[in-house]
Amino acid sequence: MKIGILGGGQLGRMLIQSALKYDDEFYTLDPASDAPCNNISHFTQGNFNDYEAVLNFGKDKDVITIEIEHVNADALAELEKQGVKVVPNAAIIKTIQQKILQKEFYKTYDIPSPEFQVVWNSDEKIMMPLPFVQKMNTGGYDGKGVQVIRTEEDYQHLWKEASVIESLVDIDKELSVIVARNENGETKTFPVTEMVADPKLNLLDFNICPVFLSEDIQKQIDSVTEKFLNAVNSPGLFAIELFLDKNGKIWVNETAPRLHNSGHQSQEGNANSQFEQMYRVVKNLPLADTDAFGYSGMLNLVGAEGYAGKVIYEGMDDVLKFPKTYIHLYGKTETKPGRKMGHINVLADSREELMEKLVKVKSMVRVIAE
Ligand code: ADP
Repeated sequence: MKIGILGGGQLGRMLIQSALKYDDEFYTLDPASDAPCNNISHFTQGNFNDYEAVLNFGKDKDVITIEIEHVNADALAELEKQGVKVVPNAAIIKTIQQKILQKEFYKTYDIPSPEFQVVWNSDEKIMMPLPFVQKMNTGGYDGKGVQVIRTEEDYQHLWKEASVIESLVDIDKELSVIVARNENGETKTFPVTEMVADPKLNLLDFNICPVFLSEDIQKQIDSVTEKFLNAVNSPGLFAIELFLDKNGKIWVNETAPRLHNSGHQSQEGNANSQFEQMYRVVKNLPLADTDAFGYSGMLNLVGAEGYAGKVIYEGMDDVLKFPKTYIHLYGKTETKPGRKMGHINVLADSREELMEKLVKVKSMVRVIAE
């Protein structure tokens, strides 16, 4: 089968890596000639935001999917009309792309998400009491396009673009749940993962699984995933980012209609990974079991501050000596501060051992430049 992916980044790369054991041909579209998927797929250099580029790329494929949601959804809708299968469908991609539509979607389907107000332009009066969060309708990614407004003075920093004004949640934990649904309507959910910060080292980018949750909280999450899957009306793999507030209530922060950073530890930590699951969704195969083997965690390898250029991974030999520790690099030649270059997955028998190992591994590696 000819499978086309819009975006040629690490998520696409790991999807292809996982699917190579089956017999398919992968095609990718990305503006960067050195994209992680370039040398492992049939690569087209082009802009996935451009209507014609997406149409041309997609028209001779059996199925088109995405590894980034900021793509030209109108072209995907046209491809659907022409009989190309698009997973997830153009409509849900369009909804999720725009924060305003996404928030209205949650409201329509009674999915708990922080209270909000839509602001189309800067003349509109903000009714939300302080403090609140402003999220740009479009163009936000990886924390950009999100800001907290705490005081009257902060009002001057308000962005003028169309945005969602959202009440500030008193967060206890940030959780994520990855769900999948195939065309036949079969659904499977991965165990919930947690983003943890190490209080001593102030590290913010560990993702661990499983998470201890009370029966009530797990019930709330199950209800959210069920409502979500019933509402999307599309096959796909979705990462639902959740807040657990200090009163024990679950809120949906946002959803990604694709593979997600919070699911990387499933590569070695679960019976099947999110990538295997995505492959099955794309091909409408029976979905994979998602059980967690034990404790697993992931740390991102991001470019260190102050280094830009040809990448060097410092300390990798030491990491390779660690048992049950797995390095995944994304094939990016150039590093820059904050750029996601790879990740490391770690397995352990307890949460304490897992955290210890993650902190240790984190202290051993550095992503620098020549
Ligand atoms: P991105 O798409 O860039 O990841 P998010 O919407 O996930 O943006 O916001 C980034 C971070 O901002 C979240 O992980 C969370 O820590 C914080 N945040 C976002 N919305 C809220 C909210 N309503 N209340 C409290 N914190 C929030």
